[in-house]
Amino acid sequence: MTRTDDGVATTRSAEVAVIGGGIVGLSTAYALQEQGVPVRLYEAGLPGMGQSAGESRIFRHAHDDPRLVTFARGSRAVWDEWAEHFDVELVSSDGVVAIGDGALERLRVLDKVGVAAREIDADELAERMPLLAGYSGPAMFDEAGGAIRTRAAITALTDALGDAVVTGEVISIDHRADGTVEVRSVTDSAIHSKVVVCAGRETARLARSVGLSLPVRLAAHVRLTFDVRSAPPAQVACLQDSSGEFGEVGVYAAPLPGNSRYAVGLSQTVGVRDDGTFIDPAAIRSLDQRAHDYVARALPGLDPEPRDFLHCWVTELPWSEDGVAVWEAGSISFVAGHNLFKQAPALGRALAQAATGGGLAAELKSEARLGELQ
Ligand SMILES: Cc1cc2nc3c(=O)[nH]c(=O)nc-3n(C[C@H](O)[C@H](O)[C@H](O)COP(=O)(O)OP(=O)(O)OC[C@H]3O[C@@H](n4cnc5c(N)ncnc54)[C@H](O)[C@@H]3O)c2cc1C
Repeated sequence: MTRTDDGVATTRSAEVAVIGGGIVGLSTAYALQEQGVPVRLYEAGLPGMGQSAGESRIFRHAHDDPRLVTFARGSRAVWDEWAEHFDVELVSSDGVVAIGDGALERLRVLDKVGVAAREIDADELAERMPLLAGYSGPAMFDEAGGAIRTRAAITALTDALGDAVVTGEVISIDHRADGTVEVRSVTDSAIHSKVVVCAGRETARLARSVGLSLPVRLAAHVRLTFDVRSAPPAQVACLQDSSGEFGEVGVYAAPLPGNSRYAVGLSQTVGVRDDGTFIDPAAIRSLDQRAHDYVARALPGLDPEPRDFLHCWVTELPWSEDGVAVWEAGSISFVAGHNLFKQAPALGRALAQAATGGGLAAELKSEARLGELQ
């Protein structure tokens, strides 16, 4: 044990600290553990209950930026590796269907990168997505996409990390003269060689404390879960609907494990002020109603009365709703972006590489603006 300048007892702890036990922090800590690097993960509450809460997310390759498609493809490979290692399904094998003209534009990007995706006709669409109303417009199928089994992933990674996960909110991070970092949590203070901040909506605040201003826009989001009316379909793809055919242009939807429930959200978010209050408190209720009305029109296979709500913070970068970037200040890295669940394994490995002296991948530097429409 040593003492800081103000006399507080500190321990020289694990080499790398990860702050935040959402999917990104857990993936980063696990990637460090894979390399044999001693790691400590600080989580203020329960792992996976921030932006990573809920039972399902979509893994899709379709993005506007070919570099992000390539990154997603790399992440898909790590999901498979981890699924085999933990002997648990982490991404379903039913694929993702996307409908609307935008789907075909993204198909061109997937073709360029060499991802297995193709245009499908109305019959194949009905077979792959049996809950959807009749639709005969443009449609594409992303074969290696699927529903991420979020709870299985959070549980497997948390269990694998074991005692490396400590419960405690980090209240400050400070560089010391020797280049190490002092991390103070509510229960202790420890010294680490490197710190990786994956604190979701709190990342920007922690970055400000070391003089970095991240261009993160905070918003709120709602996703509703609906019961499948009849027996759960044996196979059901995730859905992205930009068609406008059913009255909305930004809908994403995914089955929950077992296929007896299906989660539906509008990609539109609700604006939030810097202090976290809603600019228009009624807006979130109007999203509830629009999701309900959309389900009544587009998804006759579902009961349109929602069974559950998932409310969550969104932390978007200005150049894309799928944008992601890492900022570095001395021995501390900060990661920010949105729609990161699918990217977390590749992101975790990249952050682990940077924390162990391998350098940050060029596409993750903020100036690369990964995710921007190319
Ligand atoms: C409704 C909804 C649907 C989505 N759909 C998709 C999708 O289909 N596909 C996809 O890829 N992504 C999707 N996303 C986005 C994705 O879920 C998030 O980008 C991802 O979960 C973010 O993970 P994270 O680890 O960065 O953050 P979080 O999960 O928020 O984790 C941050 C953690 O840090 C902890 N923390 C914060 N401050 C401190 C502190 N000071 N000390 C210690 N711990 C701290 C928090 O308690 C939290 O557990 C969706 C998000 C929402 C809300």
